[in-house]
Amino acid sequence: MDDETDDTTLSDSTSQVEAPIPIEDGRASAWLDHQELQGLRRVLDYNRDRLVDEIERLERTRPPQAPGAGPTTGSMISEANWAAAVTQRTIAEKRSILREIDEALHRMSASTYGQCVVDGHLISRAVLQEVPWLKYCEHCRSTGRTTPARPGIAITH
Ligand SMILES: [Zn+2]
Repeated sequence: MDDETDDTTLSDSTSQVEAPIPIEDGRASAWLDHQELQGLRRVLDYNRDRLVDEIERLERTRPPQAPGAGPTTGSMISEANWAAAVTQRTIAEKRSILREIDEALHRMSASTYGQCVVDGHLISRAVLQEVPWLKYCEHCRSTGRTTPARPGIAITH
């Protein structure tokens, strides 16, 4: 009768965070301990280096744009134009992930890492460990309030 459960539901679940949790003190990183942050930073750094290498290699071996490679025959465009288009798209996508990693590293420095850039809700720990550069919370991704950082990531139901 007389127990009130209004404002005490925050601190009990340490393992799994399902719903968005409002930020109380504006420092989202406080809920990840130092060791976790170091681990995530290592993952970000590693993947950043890897992307830089891969982009460099792709640009070195990029097939030349081939405007004169021939018209579409049947359902096919020319092999040269196909290869150029695919490589171009791959480079663009890798650059896009690289940009998100840089932003995530910046948020770590600013102590706002793990916080949705749209509404400030926390991103769940499990999700960050899968894709540590995500910048939108489950709510924003599921309601499409913004473009998902990576399509094809099914988080929770
Ligand atoms: Zn959000």
